[in-house]
Amino acid sequence: LVDGQVYEDHQITVCVRKRPLSRKEITRKEIDVISVPRKDTLIVHEPRNKVDLTKFLENHKFRFDYAFDDRCDNAMVYKYTAKPLVQTIFDGGMATCFAYGQTGSGKTHTMGGEFNGKVQDCKNGIYAMAARDVFTYLKSPRYRTLNLVVSASFFEIYSGKVFDLLSDKQKLRVLEDGKQQVQVVGLTEKVVDSVEEVLKLIQHGNNARTSGQTSANSNSSRSHAVFQIVLRPPGSTKIHGKFSFIDLAGNERGADTSSANRQTRMEGAEINKSLLALKECIRALGKQSAHLPFRVSKLTQVLRDSFIGEKSKTCMIAMISPGLSSCEHTLNTLRYADRVKEL
Ligand code: ADP
Ligand code: MG
Repeated sequence: LVDGQVYEDHQITVCVRKRPLSRKEITRKEIDVISVPRKDTLIVHEPRNKVDLTKFLENHKFRFDYAFDDRCDNAMVYKYTAKPLVQTIFDGGMATCFAYGQTGSGKTHTMGGEFNGKVQDCKNGIYAMAARDVFTYLKSPRYRTLNLVVSASFFEIYSGKVFDLLSDKQKLRVLEDGKQQVQVVGLTEKVVDSVEEVLKLIQHGNNARTSGQTSANSNSSRSHAVFQIVLRPPGSTKIHGKFSFIDLAGNERGADTSSANRQTRMEGAEINKSLLALKECIRALGKQSAHLPFRVSKLTQVLRDSFIGEKSKTCMIAMISPGLSSCEHTLNTLRYADRVKEL
């Protein structure tokens, strides 16, 4: 595979990433049930015998465009997923990159940047690496003459409501006009002239997202975070291209529909609805289908323009926790990702 260009012609790229066992998991003797025998294949070795976990394994084999094992770093993942899509937005298209998976599988680590203890360093996340490439393209001989203006926004969708991560989590309304143009009213969109400025915004948004939460009751596991880079011709409000990065809510939360807590139950139903609608919308990417369930959830509604264009491209990174105790969620994640792939 050379330089991530292999998937250039795909409209949809679906990859899977296995994170390493954490120190905590190793301490409690968690067993790693995932193997990545080839660059495009991942196997879940599910024990069928509760007494001897090493015997009677049922092997579930999945193939994707790329399978990243636990030795791959964010730069490697970026190279084969979002990086090839930067070109798309300069050529006047829409690009999206989704991180999907259960809570604790590595979505935020991959998108927002690595954690150093509790501190998150945004520089090596996919948001930041893409921003860096956007400025490289901007200055390249091929695109320099377009004089495109770059701006960035960062918001969160929690329980069907939109909150601005660049403006004290202000609650925002979503409006749709007669021509089905969707607008997030009052969303902060900062014009940025350098990578450093984007990094500041990402760090700000990352912090806003996690402030005031404990790990036991973490809102971020129940919300979708959306970071966007928008390109416009000089002096124009028209969009030339847009890259959206989505750190999705933990997919296990979609199963919280029988919780005793009413709030949790409603949030679970909302997450479930949005992830199902998302799958349908991605599968229909670029196709002229009038009956796609955009309006079913806020997530698909605000991303509508990214699904409909002929030049739209998307990639999904399905994140996997390697431990035996996550086996069931892992299989759910892989089956979902499998369904997203082009037929
Ligand atoms: P999620 O956003 O899916 O809930 P996180 O990104 O917060 O999960 O990751 C959970 C924990 O696992 C974090 O402490 C993070 O640092 C760690 N982690 C995730 N992915 C990796 C990885 N590829 N390598 C090392 N540590 C990781
Ligand atoms: Mg997270």
